[in-house]
Amino acid sequence: MKRNFLAVAVCLCVAVLGCTPSSASRIPDPSSPTIELRNGHWFDGERFVDRIMYSVGGYFSASRPARVDSVIDLQQGYVVPPFGEAHNHNVDATNAAAAHAVIDKYLRDGVFYAQNPANVLRARSGLTGFINVPTGIDVTFSNAALTGPGGHPMGLFLRNLSRGAMLPTDSNSTSGFVWTIADRADLDAKWPQILASHPDFIKTMLLYSEEYERRKSDTAFFNWRGLNPALLPEIVRRAHDAGLRVMTHIETAADFRNALLAGVDEIGHTPGFRGNEKTELPDFAPYLMSDADAELAAQRGVFVITTLGGPAGLPDFALRARFARLDSLNLVMLKKHRVKIAVGSDSYRTTSVPEAMWLSTLGALTNAELLRAWTETTAQAIFPGRKIGKLAPGYEASFLVLSGDPLADFGNVKHITLGMKQGVLIGSR
Ligand SMILES: [Zn+2]
Repeated sequence: MKRNFLAVAVCLCVAVLGCTPSSASRIPDPSSPTIELRNGHWFDGERFVDRIMYSVGGYFSASRPARVDSVIDLQQGYVVPPFGEAHNHNVDATNAAAAHAVIDKYLRDGVFYAQNPANVLRARSGLTGFINVPTGIDVTFSNAALTGPGGHPMGLFLRNLSRGAMLPTDSNSTSGFVWTIADRADLDAKWPQILASHPDFIKTMLLYSEEYERRKSDTAFFNWRGLNPALLPEIVRRAHDAGLRVMTHIETAADFRNALLAGVDEIGHTPGFRGNEKTELPDFAPYLMSDADAELAAQRGVFVITTLGGPAGLPDFALRARFARLDSLNLVMLKKHRVKIAVGSDSYRTTSVPEAMWLSTLGALTNAELLRAWTETTAQAIFPGRKIGKLAPGYEASFLVLSGDPLADFGNVKHITLGMKQGVLIGSR
């Protein structure tokens, strides 16, 4: 990324924040200038086509409007929809400096849409005014994750607590992050407080749910268990009644099936994404998805989020290759049944860029399929009601310009020369 792109992004951020109320709408501004976008190669979901497009009131138009306020020469660049990050907990901030840092990082990487499935409430409120505005990124939050007693992410919570990064209240309604739900009575007692935190969606946890009874009170499995899978359908029913979608964390193919059968909308990981409790993969069997389950996911329109890039950094080449093999088998299975694959990293230090790069090395998806997953499908996973993720008339005028063709070399997704969100220019070199 060129320095000027970031500099302009930061300036726009500051300029707009000065006059934007915290409750600003994420809808484009109808009075925004009309812009002609010429000399670009535009991604149509499969290939790049040469065309002229317009931003009118913050939306794409293919026909020339009566008035054009300005013209942007895209200089034969490759125009793609903005990237998405369907699973990351790093979109949080407790002060303005941290908020600027996270927004700048996402804008710099071209990742305009993000989903945070388990966040501390006070870190969400630190982003008020910085997100869900044309010059920021657009984000949804689950607030707390719902798990069983001693279930994941209680281990993470206790570790953060001991480090001073979280507060004792972060395990209850005043701050969110994690709720333990033991049984139906517990759900009855806590559900009103969960809704009172105003989540954008509900995050639930299944870990080795096929062994729920064996693991539920064995200390050896602390943090390696989740909700009673028998409770999940009732949680989904209540969430849907409240107009909220449900994402489920999974580990195994059995968790994947249990989540589907419960009626969830998004599955937060692909089975086997981190192997077993020792981050090893002695056996693929617990993690291989079946044709029947992939078919069910497709029929129900469930989004499956990748989060497969973790092993990319493993020093053990043979183990890394085993993860790559398992990941490829599962991605091919999802692709075969036309399941909606959304790109998410679950990597606190990064955006979804390294995840997409890892996926590109697996060979399961073509570059065009991966680009479509990372842009169109991921945007739909996060904001299913919005016209985003496509470069088509009527869609929000949001895009990135790449200096090289990402279908020829996927690494070109890192060479962003210009970005626009909802008709507002993010920057140019
Ligand atoms: Zn996560």
